[in-house]
Amino acid sequence: DQALVDAICGPGSKPGPEQRRAMAKAITLLESTRVDHRLRADDVLNAVLPKSGQSFRLGISGVPGVGKSTFIEALGLYLIDKGHRVAVLAIDPSSSVSGGSILGDKTRMEFLSVNEKAFIRPSPSSGNLGGVAEKTREAMLVAEAAGHDVVIVETVGVGQSETAVANMTDMFVLLQLPNAGDDLQAIKKGVMELADLVVINKVDLDPDAATRAQVQIMSSLRLFSMHGNPDHAHHDETLWHPKVMKLSALKAEGITEFWDTVTSFKNIQSKHGHLSDRRRQQAQSWMWERIEAGLKQNFRANSQVQKLLPELTAAVNNGTVAASVAARRLLDLMK
Ligand code: GDP
Repeated sequence: DQALVDAICGPGSKPGPEQRRAMAKAITLLESTRVDHRLRADDVLNAVLPKSGQSFRLGISGVPGVGKSTFIEALGLYLIDKGHRVAVLAIDPSSSVSGGSILGDKTRMEFLSVNEKAFIRPSPSSGNLGGVAEKTREAMLVAEAAGHDVVIVETVGVGQSETAVANMTDMFVLLQLPNAGDDLQAIKKGVMELADLVVINKVDLDPDAATRAQVQIMSSLRLFSMHGNPDHAHHDETLWHPKVMKLSALKAEGITEFWDTVTSFKNIQSKHGHLSDRRRQQAQSWMWERIEAGLKQNFRANSQVQKLLPELTAAVNNGTVAASVAARRLLDLMK
């Protein structure tokens, strides 16, 4: 697979159909469930790894219909115009559950998808969220090695996928509708706390409601940060304070201001080492998440465990063996 690696990030590699095909092929390998594919994918990943990590990783989430693809299309074209190369990856938690897809069915980002400086890849379609997130994270490394300096990871605002995206990006942006302020309870608190920036889209539909939402969300964000750490209630210049802004993705209004805000986030974060801290933490928690997933898988695949599990499950069910005792007996089989 040296040819694959060369086409992605070798000395002679350049943006274009050949590089795109190689990226797609590498990502297909790492999404495969076949053992031989996985081994080849590991080699490819190791080879591209030294060239990865140089991008800015932007996470974007919001409910279906909020305007994610419209926004990413407008932002992507704006960034390409400024000389960037953009990759768009997606995590669609629905595809593994229902087999259907919330994100990927319609023709999305029609101009961005045909642009040579862009690379768009839909969500891996099989596996649990942890597995899908792992593949997306690896695809991100491939895109970075190929020279995409802005990687956007998109997800829908349902389930746990926002946390997964926030955990693999440098900045997490939450898209909202202008009427978000009318029912702040509807915005899951845990998700709001992940947001480095909240964007109220479709401001053209109802500017007044958007302004109300902006004020309300701003004050609730401020509450979060005070609860998190009372010392941060005053303005600390070395820290990023989550912001709320309004724009219209459809009219491509506010995209410049959006990117200016992203840039100031990036400047503050990198100046004070928060960007590299965040990536280090992500790598650590990622490693442990994968270790736990691997252990669980080994546990379930263990033949002695498989033999004893039905019996102990039944015993725990009818109360003849304590749950903790059953767990210990099963775990002992792994020694
Ligand atoms: P997604 O499901 O979050 O990806 O949302 P889409 O980007 O597909 O947008 C859903 C609908 O909202 C589409 O009909 C878009 O044209 C429309 N839309 C997106 N952004 C705006 C906006 O800023 N203003 C208005 N009026 N409509 C928008």
